[in-house]
Amino acid sequence: MAGRHFLFVPGPTNVPDRVTRAMMVAMEDHRSSKFPELTLPLFRDLKKVFKTAEGQVFIFPSAGTGAWEASLCNTLSPGDKVLASRFGQFSHLWIDLAQRLGLDVQILEEEWGTGVKPDKVESVLRADKSHQIKAVLAVQNETATGVTSDIEAVRKAMDAAGHPAMLYVDGVSSIASIEFQMDEWRVDLAVAGSQKGLMLPAGLGFVCASPRALAAYKTAELKRVYFDFGDMMKANATGYFPYTPALPMLYGLREALIMLLEEEKLQHVFERHHVLASGVRAAVKAWGLQLCATEPQWYSDTVTAIVVPPGFNGADVIDAAFRRYNLSLGAGLSQVAGKVFRIGHLGDLNDLMVLGAIAGAEMAMRDIGIEIQLGSGVAAAQAHFRSTIMAKEKKPTDQEHFAQLHPEGVLND
Ligand code: PLP
Repeated sequence: MAGRHFLFVPGPTNVPDRVTRAMMVAMEDHRSSKFPELTLPLFRDLKKVFKTAEGQVFIFPSAGTGAWEASLCNTLSPGDKVLASRFGQFSHLWIDLAQRLGLDVQILEEEWGTGVKPDKVESVLRADKSHQIKAVLAVQNETATGVTSDIEAVRKAMDAAGHPAMLYVDGVSSIASIEFQMDEWRVDLAVAGSQKGLMLPAGLGFVCASPRALAAYKTAELKRVYFDFGDMMKANATGYFPYTPALPMLYGLREALIMLLEEEKLQHVFERHHVLASGVRAAVKAWGLQLCATEPQWYSDTVTAIVVPPGFNGADVIDAAFRRYNLSLGAGLSQVAGKVFRIGHLGDLNDLMVLGAIAGAEMAMRDIGIEIQLGSGVAAAQAHFRSTIMAKEKKPTDQEHFAQLHPEGVLND
């Protein structure tokens, strides 16, 4: 199909052309004396992404799933008890992985569309007088339902309970896209992936470990080889890896970090994601549809899951969008399969790109018979984007401007 593909799944996200170009490198010797000139600054700069001074970042050639595994198998022992909330496919998969590693997972089942409930975490930890629970697992952004949980509040709940468990956070679809503070929130293990906010292809899994997590590594007895922190630490100290690294990805990471940290800067990246997400939510409201996230406190700034009306299948919307309009929307997974479709709005995106996705979603919904007004979502998002820009530039809103010109008139958007 002519023209650019509109990639609006919540990962993999669009890879900026300059990142793609940065990855087009000839292979080189990863044991050369020059190689650390690439890698040591990467380790240094990734710490800025996790917002940590003392933590150590590991780069594994893996999917986010590998980073999940690395976080657990390096710091826990067989049979250790961990507490995890389940409220979507990714929180489910992390629990499943923990169970298959031989951990004893106490699960807090939450309604899909909500997230981690700090008060429940606190009461379970308070009841655990003998401190059997070694870890609390929290997915910061549940990509399946478009739900963001308050990790700072989880940390406060753990403190309020006076419990020494370590805090593990899945930030695969949040880190580098929305606020994440490793040190401030005293997160012990944070997990990220390359294919979302970091604007790279899938293929790198990141784990950031606190000094406490690194101390736990010394006594943890779960088996690990490929993901062993110790092997990594030994090699990384001088800028090398214990095995052949994914070289082009490291060059791409260099470029992406320049864009995020030095050019746009993380704070602006977070604000941009908030504006884009709010525009999508304005569109959904204008369509008269519901979000999967049940309340504003859960709204995600990186992905929105939209509930299709009864009698319709979200998969049909996605298929029409893909076949007719060259637009990829995210599927509903597991419990919400067919019930939702998702718009991913993270990574290298701007207002007009998001308007394209909203326009395509409108057409696809109408194609399968969902009664929404064409252009309604686009107009609502346009109005939101413009009012944000006007406010930032301290210019009158459209309404104010129009009222000056036509005191008797009304502007209908
Ligand atoms: N955690 C979250 C929140 C995710 O969204 C994903 C993937 O989308 C993963 C973990 C797993 O990452 P991967 O598919 O790279 O293994």
